[in-house]
Amino acid sequence: MTGAAASEHVPGRAALVAARLIAYGVELAATGDAQVGDVFTDIPEADALIKADPNAFLVGVLFTQGIPAERAWAGPYLLSQRLGHLDLGRLATERATVADAVSRRPALHRFKVTLAGWISDAAERLLACWDGDASRMWLPGAHVLEVSERLSAFKGIGRKKAAMTIQILTRYFGVPLAGTQCGTVAYDVQVRRVFLRSGLIERDTPDEVAAAAIRAYPEAPGSLDLPTWLVGRQWCRPKAPRCRECVLGGVCERRVWLDAEGVGARR
Ligand code: SF4
Repeated sequence: MTGAAASEHVPGRAALVAARLIAYGVELAATGDAQVGDVFTDIPEADALIKADPNAFLVGVLFTQGIPAERAWAGPYLLSQRLGHLDLGRLATERATVADAVSRRPALHRFKVTLAGWISDAAERLLACWDGDASRMWLPGAHVLEVSERLSAFKGIGRKKAAMTIQILTRYFGVPLAGTQCGTVAYDVQVRRVFLRSGLIERDTPDEVAAAAIRAYPEAPGSLDLPTWLVGRQWCRPKAPRCRECVLGGVCERRVWLDAEGVGARR
């Protein structure tokens, strides 16, 4: 996997961006990626919980929607504090209590009613299909596409969240899944923002994003997923992007007025 290989397929500056993203992906793979992005929240106990407990991690995945990531990943811990447990049987059956715990001020999530339902549904599904252990969905050697299907069967987990979950499992938790080079980039808000700002795409549509990834790296477009996501998460923030520190800083078009949540809006 080399930047030169990618640049044959993408003209101009976009080739440089693609090459740099691929190189960054190689760097991440070489270092095991333990240093970047493995701090989920600013609450150490919350981080420890989602790293130690696969079921809590899955609940965290449900939280990752519509609120900042740091707040979302704190959700399982804060919920466990309010409930006094994260017992699947009780999460599945004591729905009103779960809903109250999520909704109580300060609410743990914007979509408190929906999220509480997802949590109880997920607990029910984990007990019914996975022996009450989320990690059985991503046993070593399972294929990423298979894992994606399993995750997507949960209410509140679409393809985008499934892709993010797989990235975290493989990169941060070291789960050895098969087929990590398959697929394409997720139509994720981080990916969309970085693709737009760096000039890889002109229009924010799923087809444009997928096509740009294939142009950039036809052999394994999915390889761009993690590095792009991390660029978005670490540097290319919606407000005040840190271009000087960004790994794409030297090659990016820096169209910082563009964002996936309001394309073309100048600030
Ligand atoms: S942070 Fe700046 S240099 Fe990095 S991708 Fe975003 S706009 Fe480009």
